[in-house]
Amino acid sequence: MRSIHDFVSQRALGVDASGIRKVFDLAAKMKDPINFSIGQPDFDVPQPIKQAAIEAINAGQNRYSQTQGIAPLRERLRKELSAELGRDTGEVLITSAVSGGLLLAILSIINPGDEAIVLDPYFVMYKHLLTMAGGRTITVDTYPDFRFYPDRVEKAITPRTKLLMLNSPCNPTGHVMSQAEVQAAVDIARKHDLIIISDEIYEPFLYDSDEPLLSPGKLYDRTIVLRGFSKSHAMTGWRVGYAAGPEEIISQMTKLQQYTFVCSPTPFQFAAAMKALDMPVTEARSAYRRKRDLVYSALSGMFDVVKPGGAFYIFPKAPAGMTAADFCAKAIENNVLIIPGNVFSDKDTHFRISYATADEKIQQGCEILCRLAK
Ligand code: PLP
Repeated sequence: MRSIHDFVSQRALGVDASGIRKVFDLAAKMKDPINFSIGQPDFDVPQPIKQAAIEAINAGQNRYSQTQGIAPLRERLRKELSAELGRDTGEVLITSAVSGGLLLAILSIINPGDEAIVLDPYFVMYKHLLTMAGGRTITVDTYPDFRFYPDRVEKAITPRTKLLMLNSPCNPTGHVMSQAEVQAAVDIARKHDLIIISDEIYEPFLYDSDEPLLSPGKLYDRTIVLRGFSKSHAMTGWRVGYAAGPEEIISQMTKLQQYTFVCSPTPFQFAAAMKALDMPVTEARSAYRRKRDLVYSALSGMFDVVKPGGAFYIFPKAPAGMTAADFCAKAIENNVLIIPGNVFSDKDTHFRISYATADEKIQQGCEILCRLAK
């Protein structure tokens, strides 16, 4: 007789999520920690957007939507994104947030054995989704300043390379790719005939310029742009995102969505279309810029740390002589919850702080971390 373990697929076993689970297990034991581990905004969904969702529910918008999403949302996003990218983006697919878009894009592109370049440190989901699709993640080191290094990327390319994953502003480093970096990435993709997936979920959260994010999709039409409302409007539980890119890939993604997610939740699509798109996130952006400055100035005297330009993360180096895991264990003993770099990286030298929390918590937590680093 087979043991239950024998029923578990190689695909599932191939995904090792133990790093992040260890952190959650530790967190569960802490009482009222200073929690720098949470990757979501510290504000609630703005009231007018909640109201729009309630109205959609009361109006009976509770059924499946079309697989590709409701027309008013798709049409508006297509118009806005086309204006931004300077060309018609074609049909936009409304996804079950950016995670849904990532899964469908990777499943639509990657054959078993295909290689994808992922810049290290990376958002942890990429590696696991690529594994699920049978692909190989080829990490390219971006330490110490988390920039795009064209020479390092070129060295990692083989005849099996198909995909370049980009994420700016980046989770976990907060790095925002400059125009030169985006251009270099696009030049490499063009030269080596690669497709780009550009995860732009933190797109509104830019702190060092009033210019909009430069999407590689503006320079290179073989780019799948993924964006969403989870972070911008604190709608992480509502699951609304979107994908735009080459028509043939988007139509494959739509087909796969039909047999997996079916659609993004209908009332929340209406809330996004009716309200979220009319509510710029200027206030949250200013608040996070201030918090970014606060955390950077509190840590930069004691830690080797790069000032992040976006998102709400900072990625300092652990004190000399310590792995990040050791330093995080010490921080957790002192009631500060941070995540070791090895969750997001082949290295274990840095740690991630999410500063989407109250100013006084930032102050207290940074004081403790600086004391521990002495
Ligand atoms: N991409 C990045 C870089 C993220 O940090 C996250 C969430 O933390 C996601 C995608 C997934 O977000 P969602 O599926 O809520 O849109």
